[in-house]
Amino acid sequence: MSAIDLYNRATPGFDGRVAHALAVLQSAAVDHAGRIVQATSLGAEDMVITDLIARNGLAIDIATLETGTLHAETVALIGRMEEHYDLRVEVYRPRQDEVITFVRANGEEAMYRSLELRKACCGIRKLEPLSRMLNARSAWITGLRREQSNHRGVVPFNDRDDAGRAKFNPLADWSWNDVWHYIATNGVLYNPLHDQFMPSIGCAPCTRAIAVGEDFRAGRWWWEDEAAKECGLHVNPSQAQGVAA
Ligand code: SF4
Repeated sequence: MSAIDLYNRATPGFDGRVAHALAVLQSAAVDHAGRIVQATSLGAEDMVITDLIARNGLAIDIATLETGTLHAETVALIGRMEEHYDLRVEVYRPRQDEVITFVRANGEEAMYRSLELRKACCGIRKLEPLSRMLNARSAWITGLRREQSNHRGVVPFNDRDDAGRAKFNPLADWSWNDVWHYIATNGVLYNPLHDQFMPSIGCAPCTRAIAVGEDFRAGRWWWEDEAAKECGLHVNPSQAQGVAA
């Protein structure tokens, strides 16, 4: 059964939430012209946002983090997006010297050994490249939603990151069913791993399929306590959680 079969549901207020998300993006593109980027995790929510941006010709750059440990299906999605929408996706990779030094010292599976090592890996493979992506930009867009986990209940549409940049979360009030209803009705590209019971897809070593009834976040860093499941991409007091990248 595909993710569309599983999750696509039309729910009351859907059209209004789409219109509002588009309005958030349009306003952000005007207010931060030339200095705004969608930091896409290539997850389902972010594919919806890219579709809204491309479909409406909004002047918002698209960028992603290629950590070096992504599934082949996720990496392939970058090229599929570029071809489908005729746009360029900026790809930010970790510094190879840092990766080599870390892996030599701690091994390929360091993330399973301690929270400190897992966060160090996220720091090298995600946070440092993200800082380069956001450098010289005044605003970024994420696919965060309020219902994604307990920590995300306060996700606002307009926020600020720790550096004072504007941070927009246009799908903050969308449900998972909304996301898949939009994908289904608009023919949006998505990662085929979503069809293998992986609602939240990150790096391959840190992502697994979930069982029926499990929380979506159970597929990410599953060996850690729920409270530790952050990679640091979204770290301000109102949003202490990690992105699905
Ligand atoms: S999600 Fe896993 S593999 Fe990816 S950067 Fe973090 S610890 Fe490393």
